[in-house]
Amino acid sequence: MQQWVPMNDLSRAITEQRAALEGAWSRVLDSSYVVMGPEHAAFEAELAALVGATDAVAVASGTDALELMLRATMPSGRDVVVTAANCGGYTTTAARRGGFTVRYVDVDVETHLVDPDALLKVLDERVGVVVVTHLYGRAADVAAVRAVCEPRGIRVVEDCAQAIGARTDEGPVGSRADAAAFSFYPTKNLGALGDGGAVTTSSEEIAVRLRALRQYGWDAKYRIGVDGGRNSRLDEAQAAVLRTRMPLLSAQNEARRGIIQRYAAVGASGVRVLPAEGAGHVGHLAVVVADDRARLREHLESHFIRTDVHYPVPDHEQGAFRDEYADVCLPVTESLADKILTLPCFAEMTPDEVDRVCDALASY
Ligand SMILES: *Cc1c(COP(=O)(O)O)cnc(C)c1O
Repeated sequence: MQQWVPMNDLSRAITEQRAALEGAWSRVLDSSYVVMGPEHAAFEAELAALVGATDAVAVASGTDALELMLRATMPSGRDVVVTAANCGGYTTTAARRGGFTVRYVDVDVETHLVDPDALLKVLDERVGVVVVTHLYGRAADVAAVRAVCEPRGIRVVEDCAQAIGARTDEGPVGSRADAAAFSFYPTKNLGALGDGGAVTTSSEEIAVRLRALRQYGWDAKYRIGVDGGRNSRLDEAQAAVLRTRMPLLSAQNEARRGIIQRYAAVGASGVRVLPAEGAGHVGHLAVVVADDRARLREHLESHFIRTDVHYPVPDHEQGAFRDEYADVCLPVTESLADKILTLPCFAEMTPDEVDRVCDALASY
């Protein structure tokens, strides 16, 4: 029987990098620091340098990074977080855990990113933070969002979980707003061998708050100076793995972008491949918009190609809290949720696998 083209295959990178990864684990065993030791400190410094921020604060996951970032940036007297509803629910989960109210804004039909014009309509004096998600690997226009928010005293933060390494004329993602959250979940462009996350910022005040919040709210050992803290640390072993992998990131981002460009060049009727051109896109996910998604999916499956949907349910329609959003209407977000389909795209895909996806698109 024919082999499936998988959505991802973590074993390939682990096999290729086996010796280096074992070296990283050994360094940790040799040092016997298991949390917040030398690998952790070096990783924070290297991430800050990669992103072009003065500080990086490592935490236990991307969702924790979002939550602590929201807590650290929400201006006092405000309680509303504004975000797009098509980004998988992570910001929603984080904001709700932080005790904030979430308000949604529709996205642009071409880019699937926050629409700055739509944003204007949902801002008021309760809104404290707007989260800009660089969805699918594409750097969003942070400057346009800041231009709308800053005169109103609203902070802008970035969700870079899908876009680490992306850069635009304004600089790398993660350096262009008040703070930025990253995830090192294993399937992200920079993945750990387990969970991990970080927040970058160039505000010393925000960095100090983040360092307190990730450790019980401590401003000194056993002294709780910041309310709302928790325990969210990045393991030393994961920091060592991430340091091993970080030098490979830019070539892997290039490989991912190349795969999406191949799909875009082939195309198919009734299918729009979202483009991934230039340094402003790191090819995290190969997403297409299909007039008839079920038919395209079936066709690809008949060619043994796996697909997925990122994401099938907009946040405001999620079962756990849709009652709160019964009168919210986001026409672009809602219509795209029924048409988007994700094709395989990961740095270790073989040329033969990429060809097979292209052939299947061509015969659709
Ligand atoms: C993966 C992801 C997160 C959450 O990261 P975890 O490490 O899984 O908690 C947040 N935002 C986006 C856009 C993501 O893709």
